[in-house]
Parts: sequence; C-alpha cells; structure tokens
Amino acid sequence: MEELEELLITSDMGVQTAMTLMEKVSSSKISEVDQVKSFLKDEILAILEPRTAEPETAPPAPRVVMIVGVNGTGKTTTIGKLAARATASGEKVLIGAADTFRAAAIEQLMIWAERADADIVKHMEMADPAAVAFDAVAAAKARNADLVLIDTAGRLHTKINLMEELKKIKRAISKKIPDAPHEILLILDATTGQNALSQAELFNDALGVTGLALTKLDGTAKGGIVISVCNALKIPLKYIGIGEKVEDLQEFNAVEFVDALF
Ligand code: GDP
Ligand code: MG
Repeated sequence: MEELEELLITSDMGVQTAMTLMEKVSSSKISEVDQVKSFLKDEILAILEPRTAEPETAPPAPRVVMIVGVNGTGKTTTIGKLAARATASGEKVLIGAADTFRAAAIEQLMIWAERADADIVKHMEMADPAAVAFDAVAAAKARNADLVLIDTAGRLHTKINLMEELKKIKRAISKKIPDAPHEILLILDATTGQNALSQAELFNDALGVTGLALTKLDGTAKGGIVISVCNALKIPLKYIGIGEKVEDLQEFNAVEFVDALF
C-alpha cells in the first residue's frame, strides 16, 4: 500500500488526488496487489473519460479551434501538428496568426503552415490579435476551408490583461460565425506539474476551455498531472504531444495512459 501510494504521488497526479484514490482503495477492502491495481486503473479511467459527449454532427465548416495556453507550452507546435494531420486527411486548413506580440512567433507559425500545406492569415507584429482572428475566420469562410486554427499569445508585454485579450479574440471569432469557436483547446506542458492545474483553472474561468492537449510527455514527466487536471476540471484530454516533430501528436487514449502509469 505504501509503495502504491508513493507511486501515485510521484506520478505527479497531486497529493490530493492520490490520497482520495488511496482512501477508495482502503474502503474497498481489496488487498491483493493485482486487484488493487486494476481497481485503481478503473478509478483513474473514470476520472479520465471525457464527461462531455461529442456532438453527434460536426458543425458546418469551417470548424474553428482557438488554441490557448501560457508561453512555451507548445501552442504553435501543436497547431502545426494538428494542421498537418488535417491536411493529410484531405481537409483544407487555415491558420490564424493571432499571437502578434513577437515577429518571431509569426515566422515560426509560417514555417509550420508551409510544412503542413495550410493557408495562413497574418498581420504585422503588434497588430490587434482579435482583428487577425476575425480576418482568419472570414478568409476561411470565403475559401471554403474545413478547419481554422487560431494561435494566440501566452503572455503580454504591456499592461493589457491576457485573459481580456483572449476574450476579445473569442468575441471577434463569434462575430463571424456565431457558434464559433467550436473548440477552445488549452495546451498544457506535462513537465510543469501542478502549475498546469492553476493555469487550467485560470484559462477555464476566463474562456470556458472545451479540450486539453498535454505536451512534452516524451520527457521525464509521467503526466499524472493530467489526472489531477481532469479530476478538478472535468475537461476531456484530447491530444498528447510526444516530441517536437510534426508526427509527434497522438489522440489521447485513456486506457493506454493508465496502463503506462503502473
Ligand atoms: P508556444 O509558446 O506555446 O507557442 O510553444 P511552442 O510551440 O513555441 O513550443 C515551445 C517549445 O516546446 C519548442 O521548443 C517546441 O519544440 C517544444 N515542444 C512543443 N511540444 C513538444 C512536445 O510534445 N515534446 C517536446 N519534447 N517538445 C515540445
Ligand atoms: Mg507560440
């Protein structure tokens, strides 16, 4: 039991979640190791299984996904990977460069767009990000794109509040397509441990996050943090990043993930 408890805590799921799980184990009166493990796996799976059902029918094209998260978590990289997947499956993809706070951010996104064979809508550095997002969605409609991916900043250098800026981007998108953005995907870095949880709360309170992507799971992080985030926020984990290359993105598989934990 002690070994299990240690395993849970060191998997980065957070002391609180680990304790709750251990309490469930002891009240279940199960003591045989394999049974305890499979009991724990089921409990963790229940936490990870998405609470919100996917919509039966896909929204009319273009589907708009707004990508948010703090600096360095892997927003731009994940956009590149998602764009490449979508174009490979025959979709027409347009990327909106609404992280306008560094010229380098726009250039980085241009490289990914080219690699993924996706269109890009960009303005000058320091342009109004909401205007970029609006133009990107407008262009996507005009060009009959299937998917729009909106990149955003993770930190602002001025006094403008990041969350207010992101809300403005969200409003600008819905001015063009009323039920868009169809997805607000929060990118979390698995190596940041419990920090990711407070980030998730912040972004969710401000924007209403609809899905998560957990990056850098190829590093040492065991990603138990995702259990803690799913437990606290009830937001489905959709993707995991397992490297810096274009193919290093996977749809999250809860069963495989839980098997890897033990
Ligand atoms: P952004 O600031 O959120 O846009 O983050 P970037 O997309 O620029 O990524 C920041 C750094 O993390 C870059 O060096 C990426 O190559 C790296 N990165 C992103 N995703 C992953 C991942 O899944 N695994 C690893 N090892 N590195 C990643
Ligand atoms: Mg970026």
